[in-house]
Amino acid sequence: MSDFKINFQDTATAFADKTNAELRRKYELFSLMNSPFLNDFGTKATELFLRLRLPVTGLIKRTIFRQFCGGETIEECQPTIEKLGESHIGTILDYSVEGKSAETVFDSTKNEIIRTVTRAKEDGNVPFAVFKVTGVARFEILEKVSGGKELLKGEAAEWERSKTRVNEICAYAASISQPIFIDAEESWIQNAIDIIAEEMMEKYNREQPLIYNTIQLYRFDRLDFLKESHRKAKENGYFLAVKLVRGAYMEKERERAEEMDYPSPIQPDKTATDKDFDAAIRYCLENVEEIAFVAGTHNEQSVCMLAEMLHEKGIKHNHPHVFFSQLYGMSDNLSYVLAKHDYNVSKYVPYGAVKDVMPYLIRRAQENSSVTGQVSRELDLIKKELKRRRL
Ligand SMILES: Cc1cc2nc3c(=O)[nH]c(=O)nc-3n(C[C@H](O)[C@H](O)[C@H](O)COP(=O)(O)OP(=O)(O)OC[C@H]3O[C@@H](n4cnc5c(N)ncnc54)[C@H](O)[C@@H]3O)c2cc1C
Repeated sequence: MSDFKINFQDTATAFADKTNAELRRKYELFSLMNSPFLNDFGTKATELFLRLRLPVTGLIKRTIFRQFCGGETIEECQPTIEKLGESHIGTILDYSVEGKSAETVFDSTKNEIIRTVTRAKEDGNVPFAVFKVTGVARFEILEKVSGGKELLKGEAAEWERSKTRVNEICAYAASISQPIFIDAEESWIQNAIDIIAEEMMEKYNREQPLIYNTIQLYRFDRLDFLKESHRKAKENGYFLAVKLVRGAYMEKERERAEEMDYPSPIQPDKTATDKDFDAAIRYCLENVEEIAFVAGTHNEQSVCMLAEMLHEKGIKHNHPHVFFSQLYGMSDNLSYVLAKHDYNVSKYVPYGAVKDVMPYLIRRAQENSSVTGQVSRELDLIKKELKRRRL
């Protein structure tokens, strides 16, 4: 055992670029989100107000939006990109429009994603681009393809058009050597996403890892999937590139499995998820010359494990195949402290019109509402820093 230890409770570093006023605002918002009742009430009321077209956009923008998003456009994200960059933290511009179904919207989303790819290439502070396949393809088509169902004639053409959009994004990213992530989504559409992602990796990861698929370790079958993806990549002569996450749709997955009476794809408990997540990290690190990977997590123990393993194995902290990533507005203690120790670290900075990023914001509010969840961890850190600053 080496005695290399990183102090992720170093709140002076974590909040160094936050003014006292910003820190207080963060405290107020997270206190609100920490109350399950207020959180639930606030989420439902906001959804209702937006549906009724009541003028709440300004309020949302000044509160939860400002905490978790960079702005409504790429240009509005500029100050955030610069501020994170000053602390050597990269920005990943995440155009957070989800759940649309019109082809014209898919085309304009594709164009916007291409703009983020260009933006990433032009700016050393933006190491990756990212997109969700549901931003450019209809959910129902992905579900049918994933379930192995036969597509009607019109649907087959639609599926081809969806794949063409993904290919256009990836081909463009590859043509300018800009790495890009494909996010993972619900398990009942994920087969289709995996099919496309593997096709893209096979096409564009021959010389270097550029296209990243995402693996959700809260699924009990995904550690095997990782190893199988690695085997295929080796056999076919391309780099495997993966973003490892635990997974964001647990409640939805369990509810659907129960409703439709099939075995839930989710691990039996948190310990099982943690075990597979850490095993996946270890597997990627053992094969670091063949696999490029991103640990997309706020779990301090997993982050600490990977950071220490790199150090102990004598692998450069900023090895070009190893990345850490957190979401903007969360776990600054991990991002800022990792950056201080020269690890490759970036944050997803979602952006988009307020009403369009609501599904994203609601997911953040919900995952943050449990007592053992992220918010209480955040609150403890903010309180610690407020105390340290004698505020
Ligand atoms: C940079 C980045 C990119 C991301 N991209 C994606 C993506 O593409 N797709 C996606 O789905 N999510 C994505 N996420 C979200 C991620 O999947 C998690 O929801 C979130 O990060 C919380 O997990 P954690 O590892 O940070 O920490 P923790 O707080 O340690 O873990 C919480 C997670 O553990 C799992 N879990 C909790 N309770 C149980 C239980 N009882 N049984 C089994 N498992 C349980 C759930 O996945 C839960 O979200 C991303 C996160 C980050 C930081």
